Amino acid sequence: RRALGSLGKSRAKFISAEETTGVTFNDFAGQEYIKRELQEIVRILKNDEEFQNKGIYCPKGVLLHGPPGTGKTLLAKAIAGEAGVPFFAANGTDFVEMFVGVAASRVKDLFASARSFAPSIIFIDEIDAIGSKRGGPDIGGGGAEREQGLLQILTEMDGFKVSTSQVLVIGATNRLDILDPALLRKGRFDKIIRVGLPSKDGRFAILKVHARNKFFRSEEEKEVLLQEIAEFTEDFTGAELQNILNEAGILTARKDLDYIGRDELLEALKRQKGTFETGQEDSTDIPEDLKLRLAYREASVAVLACYFPDPYRPFTETDIKSIHSQPNMCYAEISGRVFSKKLDYLNAIVRACALMFNILADHQFSARVTEEEMFGIENMCWISAKATLEASRLAEFLILQTGMTSFGKAYYRNQSDLVPNLAAKLEALREEYMRFAVEKCASVLREYHSAVETITDILLEKEEIKAEEIWDIFKRSPRIPQPVVNP
Ligand code: ADP
Repeated sequence: RRALGSLGKSRAKFISAEETTGVTFNDFAGQEYIKRELQEIVRILKNDEEFQNKGIYCPKGVLLHGPPGTGKTLLAKAIAGEAGVPFFAANGTDFVEMFVGVAASRVKDLFASARSFAPSIIFIDEIDAIGSKRGGPDIGGGGAEREQGLLQILTEMDGFKVSTSQVLVIGATNRLDILDPALLRKGRFDKIIRVGLPSKDGRFAILKVHARNKFFRSEEEKEVLLQEIAEFTEDFTGAELQNILNEAGILTARKDLDYIGRDELLEALKRQKGTFETGQEDSTDIPEDLKLRLAYREASVAVLACYFPDPYRPFTETDIKSIHSQPNMCYAEISGRVFSKKLDYLNAIVRACALMFNILADHQFSARVTEEEMFGIENMCWISAKATLEASRLAEFLILQTGMTSFGKAYYRNQSDLVPNLAAKLEALREEYMRFAVEKCASVLREYHSAVETITDILLEKEEIKAEEIWDIFKRSPRIPQPVVNP
């Protein structure tokens, strides 16, 4: 076998080639079924006689799809590492250049290199950049060029015989919906595997992988702490979980401590939440006026969380120590979400609207229901925009994907699946849910205005408040009766 160093450098600098990735399936945690499925491919790649005698050959293409940071690249490298074959990687965006003929010739180069080192693996990340549907709108230009590249991939994949090629092509994308169907046909990327966000157990397993080279006081303490972090990281990707542990390690070193402790982990968690939601580091000294907005927001969210408690997500505490577009309120996750009823979703939509409301203390209550009323439409902040997004998304999910509304029983992936009159129906129903949610939310906040004020004061004074105290205030505070709001 030729040494990888002989790969023509100038010609192929968009390809990154590794003789051996050194990555194994042990480096990927959670979603065990994915590993089981890929294990089989590894065995075939390794020329397992048992398979060959049965006439079972390696698929030509595997497509991994799912959100960024969920470990698709890691899995591709693990397949190469486990099978002990070289790994040739390129990015879909590398093929899209304005010069005529470049895309197709780059694809040719990539396949030629991989073939001369077969058995081997080709990994094309962001394959949607080159493999999106043909004949669609040509955003950003380069359409003809991209089409040439895509055709070349199809030609290459069709060109080699399954039984002799031994080049496995792995594609990765987070936009399965825009891929050209020709890519997914039999004999091309016909094995499609979804790599999703990890479950709570999955997150614990991922954290354990990345804690392997970190110091904890004891094995027992490590287990307890990582379980706790896994609980507070719903919707986190593997990459984000890895960041938390790295950040905790850095904080530990900065404080000159020997072991990662609870404080470091929680601080790292907060930072990670901050960066992935706002793209900014936390600011430790928040200006007073923002603190007030933040305290009101958290208090409003807390009151709504008491009024419409989520059976599967009890809240634990909140604070005003950092600013994110999502509430600072922490939740404990309990499994059972699949039993959520339509009412639970409606309540969740109302709760999401709580973020839109920022009530200020020194005004008449009637004039301070919403940020819009308070500050004028030009002075509303992004926090409100994000809330609208969250609530609308929940409403859309309920309408399109649960079959629990008057919209109908069918399942629709998203709005683009709808014929025009259904799209109009969706718009109308979503608008109705949103109108109800905003009105209901405003009504609850008016009714529990006194509780909102009390919680806000405590937050401003102590910067944090626990669920127990919030519940106590909610139950004790005087209420102002409101007219009934109906869905
Ligand atoms: P993607 O290709 O899906 O965007 P990556 O494979 O680049 O994601 O993930 C980035 C890093 O995050 C990985 O190198 C790994 O360290 C970590 N990571 C992501 N998912 C997992 C997982 N399931 N188990 C262990 N580590 C993970």
